[in-house]
Amino acid sequence: MLIVQKFGGTSVGDLDRISEVADRVCRAKKNGNDIIVVVSAMSGETNKLIEYAEHFSKTPSAKEMDMLLSSGERVTSALLALALEARGHDSISMSGRKAGIYTDDIHANARISNIDTANLKKSLKEGKIVVVAGFQGVNSFGDVSTLGRGGSDLSAVAIAGAMGADLCEIYTDVDGVYTTDPRVERRAKKIDKISYDEMLEFASLGAKVLQNRSVEMAKKLNVNLVTRSSFNENEGTLITKEENIMEEPIVSGIALDKNQARVTLRDVKDEPGIAANVFSTLAEKNINVDMIIQNVGQDGTANLGFTVPENELGIAKKIMQELNAAADLEFDSNVVKVSIVGVGMRSHSGVASRAFTTLADNNINIEMISTSEIKISMIVDEKYGELAVRSLHEAYNLHQRDEL
Ligand code: ADP
Ligand code: ASP
Ligand code: MG
Repeated sequence: MLIVQKFGGTSVGDLDRISEVADRVCRAKKNGNDIIVVVSAMSGETNKLIEYAEHFSKTPSAKEMDMLLSSGERVTSALLALALEARGHDSISMSGRKAGIYTDDIHANARISNIDTANLKKSLKEGKIVVVAGFQGVNSFGDVSTLGRGGSDLSAVAIAGAMGADLCEIYTDVDGVYTTDPRVERRAKKIDKISYDEMLEFASLGAKVLQNRSVEMAKKLNVNLVTRSSFNENEGTLITKEENIMEEPIVSGIALDKNQARVTLRDVKDEPGIAANVFSTLAEKNINVDMIIQNVGQDGTANLGFTVPENELGIAKKIMQELNAAADLEFDSNVVKVSIVGVGMRSHSGVASRAFTTLADNNINIEMISTSEIKISMIVDEKYGELAVRSLHEAYNLHQRDEL
């Protein structure tokens, strides 16, 4: 079998952890498998490098940031290759470039355009364990590019897809995908199998156990994806096609996204073209607007509110001030998004009303709402985010999931 094993930041967090990962990789190799390992930077490393850059500039060049941040995963790839060699296994570490990962030219959030598998195949053929530095590729100018936060998951899935691997294992610090973040609700239950679509929704709404673009890619390339812990031998969660899942509950889980901020434009002119102007300007600058709310106009004016990722609030603020779209602008980064996810919602009513009642019973004000056929999202004050998650988890009986 060809197995791609990806180890996240905590799994390679220090030298002892890297040794344990090396032992695990050796076991898989000794069982007769070909192994490609993809590694993240040691936990905290990427954030530390970002802080270093901010020491010199609040708006550092994206190209230099990619050069800087990609170094974290290169350190771990070389260290793991050394640890494997010390255990008697022929091993080679590869940067994204050497592994043949080609991307577009968008720094910090590059998309993989193509994978040239020649070097990977050659080294596997020579019997080597290949260790690839995750989160990075090379663009058309020959510059290093990075794949967005959490992007080592994407490196692993893309390599597994391109190589036709039998399995892609994402090793992390929890046993798999849970009904909600087990650090927020300790009664959260591990999910044994989840569909690509549901996992994609979950990941896009803030469950960072898998990067959303990696799930999208896994679905597209039909990659057999498992997420599990590097700290034990427990079985993880299989992410698979919907038809492989016997019965889907109405609500599968609750997600919490803390990377949210709200912008409010008060007393904007209630006339055609205002929203078009605001949102096209934001789109031009690659700002991801999520929820939008506009109240019914009165006396020729209306209020317009929307959310953006918290780390893009600074740029959104600058754009709104330059546009002079409203006399009264308000910015609030103390908000979070709480979402209920479940493909079973498609055919069931009453799911949304239970969510609203639950938050009302807990005196939590809902500032914005958006729904799709498989999710309901609500913006609430940051200080009630975790309470909202726990009370919704209880309201939908998710801690009793096994008995469903
Ligand atoms: P890694 O460094 O291994 O990539 P991450 O920190 O990116 O790990 O993702 C794992 C974390 O995701 C867990 O520690 C957990 O707190 C968080 N998480 C959020 N939602 C969920 C969920 N529904 N199920 C499991 N983990 C979740
Ligand atoms: N090191 C990168 C990050 O922290 C990528 C990853 O860990 O997947 O976002
Ligand atoms: Mg991650």
